[in-house]
Amino acid sequence: MAGIAVIGGGINGVMSAWELARAGHCVTLFERDTLISHTSRTSSKLLHGGLRYLENGEIPLVRRALADRDWWLTQNSKLVHPLAITLPVYRQARRKRWQLKAGLWLYDRLAGTSALPPHQWLTRQSLLSSKDHLHAQGLQGGYRYFDAQMDDEKLGNWAAGQARLAGVVIREHAPISRIACDGSVYCSGQILKFDAVVNATGPWAARLLTDSTIPCAFALDTVRGSHLLLARPLSQGYLLEVAGERRVVFVLPWQGQTLVGTTEIRQTPDTPVQCSDAETRYLLALYNHYFPAASENEISGSYAGLRPLLKSHRDPNRAQREHALIRHGCLLTVFGGKWTTSPSLAREVAVQVQAMLAP
Ligand SMILES: Cc1cc2nc3c(=O)[nH]c(=O)nc-3n(C[C@H](O)[C@H](O)[C@H](O)COP(=O)(O)OP(=O)(O)OC[C@H]3O[C@@H](n4cnc5c(N)ncnc54)[C@H](O)[C@@H]3O)c2cc1C
Repeated sequence: MAGIAVIGGGINGVMSAWELARAGHCVTLFERDTLISHTSRTSSKLLHGGLRYLENGEIPLVRRALADRDWWLTQNSKLVHPLAITLPVYRQARRKRWQLKAGLWLYDRLAGTSALPPHQWLTRQSLLSSKDHLHAQGLQGGYRYFDAQMDDEKLGNWAAGQARLAGVVIREHAPISRIACDGSVYCSGQILKFDAVVNATGPWAARLLTDSTIPCAFALDTVRGSHLLLARPLSQGYLLEVAGERRVVFVLPWQGQTLVGTTEIRQTPDTPVQCSDAETRYLLALYNHYFPAASENEISGSYAGLRPLLKSHRDPNRAQREHALIRHGCLLTVFGGKWTTSPSLAREVAVQVQAMLAP
């Protein structure tokens, strides 16, 4: 039984620790603050294949994410449920009806034998009869497809509970100042020695390597995403084009209100991660472009998080959503990784750690 340190108590660290414990290792998880308190609790709350990543050609990622989505659906039916999402088709839209149809056809194929229903066409009339009151001008109809919605904070803490039950020792408020390729971990003035270390610190992964003077060929692109919460109910999810941009934004039902997000703004991990006034205006304008206008008074909250993305494109919208695992001696660093794909990422981590431990 090997002693493994996992650093970072976001979803990728939690799932990796759980998987390593299930593989029979003696695992300690170190979290600087509290579990699931950073990126992993500021997501769009979707367990999804990532329909839009098909446009970037990320087919292996989408296939894996769809399998992971279905895994989550079988694990916790209280915190994860299917969600209908509509893509309205407007005459003046950037993406034509046939393009959406092709993407959704592929999405269904990649989902294989998923229990979620395949996409379907909805007539203009049926969309206009919904309580959400989509704007009618130019509306031709829309496609409905399914993904899953979750409570990220609760589901992440549920996974941490499972990790604990599997034997993981969880140390919160335990910042790691330095790590070394020989398995050393520096915590509160002590040097602790492990057989292997997993650096799963999300947006801070590259920073921890730099602070530890470990050179790395990979770089992280840290990209803020913000959400607005509107005090209005919504009957289903929508995936909407932003006029004049390649981007799309989700408008989702969330705990009796409406969640609108997200944005893509580069920022360093050292500065406070908050939804700016400009992002608030941008998201509200997007919502008002499609639905009966909401005023700023109806904004009941906002939040922001920092995506850890592999540096791969000057436009963050086109940046790869794939992850990479980088090995330095007994140290494995996780670069990137979606919430949805944390189970398959954790399995990869366990395989790599096993290879690192092999004589
Ligand atoms: C706006 C937004 C919306 C998103 N929506 C979705 C979505 O709907 N579905 C989806 O699948 N994905 C989504 N994602 C992506 C997903 O949320 C992230 O990729 C994922 O949560 C990253 O998890 P993580 O564990 O790598 O990082 P984090 O959750 O940030 O965890 C890293 C942890 O490491 C800790 N840490 C850092 N440095 C140290 C140190 N030195 N010592 C100890 N601990 C340390 C931090 O405190 C933190 O808790 C979204 C991301 C954003 C930003």
